[in-house]
Amino acid sequence: MNKIRIPIALQQAVMRCLREKLQLARQHFAEEFPEPKVVYQQRGTSAGTAWLQDWEIRLNPVLLMENKQPFIDEVVPHELAHLLVFRRFGQAAAPHGREWRWMMEEVLQTPASRTHQFGIASVQSKTFPYQCRCQLHQLTVRRHNRIQRGESEYRCRRCGEKLVFSAGETRELRD
Ligand SMILES: [Zn+2]
Ligand SMILES: [Zn+2]
Repeated sequence: MNKIRIPIALQQAVMRCLREKLQLARQHFAEEFPEPKVVYQQRGTSAGTAWLQDWEIRLNPVLLMENKQPFIDEVVPHELAHLLVFRRFGQAAAPHGREWRWMMEEVLQTPASRTHQFGIASVQSKTFPYQCRCQLHQLTVRRHNRIQRGESEYRCRRCGEKLVFSAGETRELRD
């Protein structure tokens, strides 16, 4: 994969937003939360994902470069809220459930929209989302076409289940 270089100014804008929102959470809970690690490695059509155990946020570099500040304002709090919900309520909380909405609106003071509205044409052609029982896979155009033509099928290496195309799938792994 070609690595996209994110300009320093844009990375700083990401961290500024992250720290501002994290500060709101610290004040609200009177608790010191560590700063999540931010990496720019999200592939496919997902805007971003929250890696709960790793306390890490992965952002899509292509969509970040295309949408800049509106992307930051929406995606950074969205993923941060997933981390904070996990920290406060554990894994039992539904990904975009009551706790998450409350975290977004009351604590992080951000409108809670479940999915993002960015144009994804530029990233869409590269991968296609497929679902098994345990995770969302991103398949290449070539594999996608082979499946659609009935030439091959793919199984998840982890759960063994056949991968099924999920066109309407939300653009996130942590759902
Ligand atoms: Zn699986
Ligand atoms: Zn989400």
